[in-house]
Amino acid sequence: MKSFKFYMPVKIYFGKNCIEENKEIFNGFGEKAMIFTGRSSAKKSGALDDVINALNFCKKEYVVFDEVEENPSVETAVKAAEIGKKENVDFIIGIGGGSPMDTAKVSSFLIANPEKGSEILFESKKYPSMPIIEIPTTAGTGSETTPYSVVTLHEKKTKSGIAQRTFADLTFLDAKYMDKLPDRVTINTAIDALTHLIEGYMCSEASFLSDKIAEAGFEIFAECKDSLISKSFNSETREKLLIASTVAGMVITQAQTSLPHAMGYYLTYFKNIPHGRANAIFMKAYLELFKDNTKVKNLLKKLNFNSLDEMDKYFKDVLDKREEFSNEEVEYYTDELMKVKGKLATFPGELSRNDVNNVFKKSLL
Ligand code: NAP
Ligand code: FE
Repeated sequence: MKSFKFYMPVKIYFGKNCIEENKEIFNGFGEKAMIFTGRSSAKKSGALDDVINALNFCKKEYVVFDEVEENPSVETAVKAAEIGKKENVDFIIGIGGGSPMDTAKVSSFLIANPEKGSEILFESKKYPSMPIIEIPTTAGTGSETTPYSVVTLHEKKTKSGIAQRTFADLTFLDAKYMDKLPDRVTINTAIDALTHLIEGYMCSEASFLSDKIAEAGFEIFAECKDSLISKSFNSETREKLLIASTVAGMVITQAQTSLPHAMGYYLTYFKNIPHGRANAIFMKAYLELFKDNTKVKNLLKKLNFNSLDEMDKYFKDVLDKREEFSNEEVEYYTDELMKVKGKLATFPGELSRNDVNNVFKKSLL
């Protein structure tokens, strides 16, 4: 068996009302929290109230930053960090989809290193962050179990993970926060989780253990597959999608994501295509690149698909119609992606410009 390392330091509390039932755990954190949320969902889902009640119970102070946009920029994290520094916060709470959870991580580096600027986010030297609690209100990114934080880089006209890595110390997984998650967001985020499972499973860094976790994730997703078609999400399905997303986070923590994520970032940046859907667009052509298709067959079987075509049709059925793209766009995306060596390296084997260009062409034209 191939050697591997496995590290997953996030304490996970799962279940209905898990914040309320474990509120004394906030005593183990600092004295003043900075809470990161998007504009409205943390309030509407009830997650923010649950966190504030727990903080009040533990007599902790807090400040709320509720300005995190979708596909958050570095500038937003910098703005939040300025507030965090002024308010002397000593621990961080992210509530929301991947956008607020990631911004919480990014700002934690800036608050923990007050004399440094945002350039530290992209340095290879490691900087300390702060204690972090993450509470997902979407079931998709797995940011609660990954060390990654993805930001929009306007000067590079794309999105990218920052170089600094940090895990949450604690995450609360309560699917009740997703009760009112719109169907579109439920589906796009569920597909993001599925693409994490698939890409992590196929990456060169995949190990025996990460594969076993991915396979469990495929089986859990397979049980929810029809719900995405019928758009009926009961609490049991919501819980399963949340578990699938969290374990998918564990898989990409070990094995990373690959071409579909790297390619999808351009579609999100230039065409505003939601992240999960952007990845799915490339999945069939990406999986066709593998000369040894043993693992492709395995994952299709675990997901109850008879073929790659059937999986692609499933994506087309559950996701919105594909947009129009031009030859010029495809060539530009190819040239840009060829510069992102890290993402190309997660593919087992050499990838030429032609290979990458073909995946773009087959998927977009
Ligand atoms: P998101 O951008 O966090 O949220 C999308 C939308 O859903 C927002 O309008 C949000 O509203 C709304 N929403 C969130 N929770 C809701 C709820 N419970 N009920 C109703 N509406 C709700 O979406 P996401 O797909 O979860 O995160 C995407 C980001 O995560 C991208 O930037 C992506 O690149 C990143 N990502 C990170 C990782 C990682 O490992 N760190 C992995 C994959 C993706 P509000 O604005 O009001 O909150
Ligand atoms: Fe993702």
